[in-house]
Amino acid sequence: MSAQNLSAPAQNASADSGWPPLAPGTLYLVATPIGNLEDITLRALRTLRECDVVAAEDTRRTGRLLKHFAIVKPLLSCFRFNEAQRCGEIIERLQRGEKVALTTDAGSPGISDPGERVVQAVIAAGLRVEPVPGPCALVAALTASGLPATEFHFIGFLPHKSGPRRRELERLRHTSGTLVFYESPYRIGKLLAELNGVFPACQVVLARELTKKYEEYLRGTPAELLALLRQRSLKGEFVVLLSGEGRPAMEPDMDSDFCGPGD
Ligand code: SAM
Repeated sequence: MSAQNLSAPAQNASADSGWPPLAPGTLYLVATPIGNLEDITLRALRTLRECDVVAAEDTRRTGRLLKHFAIVKPLLSCFRFNEAQRCGEIIERLQRGEKVALTTDAGSPGISDPGERVVQAVIAAGLRVEPVPGPCALVAALTASGLPATEFHFIGFLPHKSGPRRRELERLRHTSGTLVFYESPYRIGKLLAELNGVFPACQVVLARELTKKYEEYLRGTPAELLALLRQRSLKGEFVVLLSGEGRPAMEPDMDSDFCGPGD
């Protein structure tokens, strides 16, 4: 997909669509692709083109995205460790009437990514925040998993240390609905082993490399997926989904080691 293919319609979007220009003094939360550049929306492109500055989790990465779509824009870094300080500067810019776009490396800002602090500070300052919705690994994985989406809980990343991870999983034994985790490829085996300990009878879906060339969905119990992991190495990015079936809601005082009909 060339930059021209995708950027041409967006170049004219503002003029042709009749949509009003961006509102001065507004923070726009712009979702960006999680793998496939075709997933950028026309509105995201117009917002990135018409804003005054882009506050980016990684300026090099967003710079490459902008370059691909032939957009030239000043970039401001805004990542986990400087987000708190950046709030002041972003608020000053908005108060001067600037239009600020916020992007992260991939997907929707604020979802296991920077954004929440800036959004809270901007709201507290009485200024306007608008989402520019688009790709999000959580939604993509959930909708294609085949697991119920009527009730789901987004857990995101578990803590790194084993004790807190185990405690968090134990706490989730009493939560109904589909559970959705983000996990690094380096810890996917560890997570499956932990799920096998706490939820051995539950179905798991590994949604791998969403929207990319090697996208796939692997389904089974934690033990079945661990066996698969021993046969082939699984690389790339993962969303891990755990079915609520076989994990009946229990009262916390009915504590038992495992969930599932056989337990
Ligand atoms: N804000 C992003 C979103 O809206 O999904 C999530 C950012 S979080 C730092 C990155 C995690 O999201 C990865 O470790 C993985 O769990 C998940 N993820 C992101 N892109 C993915 C993809 N293409 N396929 C599978 N999982 C993905």
